[in-house]
Amino acid sequence: MDHEKHIKRCYELAVRAGKKGFDTFGAVLVHNGQVLEEAENTADWNKGIFGHAEFNLVHQCANRYSDAVLKESTLYTSCAPCERCLCAIASLGVERIVFGVGYEAFSQLTPGEAFPVDREGLLRKLGIRMKLTGPVLEDEGMHVFEWWGGDYRPLEELIAEMAEVKAGQRIKPEEAADGPERAMITDAETVAKLACELWPDHTAEEMTAEFRNLLTQEETAVFLFRTGEEAAGFAQCQLRHDYVEGTETSPVGYLEGIYVREADRGKGIARRLLNACENWAGEQGCTEFASDCELTNTESQEFHRAVGFEEANRIVAYVRKI
Ligand SMILES: [Zn+2]
Repeated sequence: MDHEKHIKRCYELAVRAGKKGFDTFGAVLVHNGQVLEEAENTADWNKGIFGHAEFNLVHQCANRYSDAVLKESTLYTSCAPCERCLCAIASLGVERIVFGVGYEAFSQLTPGEAFPVDREGLLRKLGIRMKLTGPVLEDEGMHVFEWWGGDYRPLEELIAEMAEVKAGQRIKPEEAADGPERAMITDAETVAKLACELWPDHTAEEMTAEFRNLLTQEETAVFLFRTGEEAAGFAQCQLRHDYVEGTETSPVGYLEGIYVREADRGKGIARRLLNACENWAGEQGCTEFASDCELTNTESQEFHRAVGFEEANRIVAYVRKI
């Protein structure tokens, strides 16, 4: 089969890159069964050189082949493309990607976990057609990583080593920004950790799954506040279309949860997180922003008053089995 033939070529290129001391990735562009271009990974972590194989391939093809040719071409890659490469491939106008090793299998060799994302669907929302096919010859592709960086090491050893790293530590956020920032799906674990402190009835796994889902919802926004490499707090808000006590418009922005770690309180972090939520709701067209808390939670009531909320109503909710 053609897919297998081209994926095998990607694996050869990946191993070749590895033997030169690079990480093991390779990619080829195929048009009507003919290979137009080939590329290897040339990433240099120390120099901050991105150099992913797919990215290099995109650069080789840019302004060299017509849109018509690229649209009919397929990009083959030894491993499912990262987000930056996916965008680069889309910008080239290629609409088909076939990958060897899939996201799930590759995650055995990286500190982060694979998480399900509908990449095709996300691109479709932007008007970009993209079909991702794979994995193809995945077992064979996993062995390509034995040549990672030039020193041959058996796959089992690499997987076992990473499993140990994963058990011992969680990945740290790459950038430390001081201020609220919109959480992405990759932040699900970080948010979930804080959320468990706010809502202790839930397990970390439940919360992570919940936020992985929430963080893909268009009508929900979560903001994280980082101080250095640590996350100090988060706020979660959404649009509510049903009636909200005391409001006159619909939908309204609604604060679903806000939390700042004990050590970081009294620094105005909650207020800034709330501002981020309100700004987001405003961007969605809302003119009102609402919230609630338990009758007994005086700390939360004080916070709401302090940041300018007006009390709309006090209600007691009842329920019984029928
Ligand atoms: Zn990439």
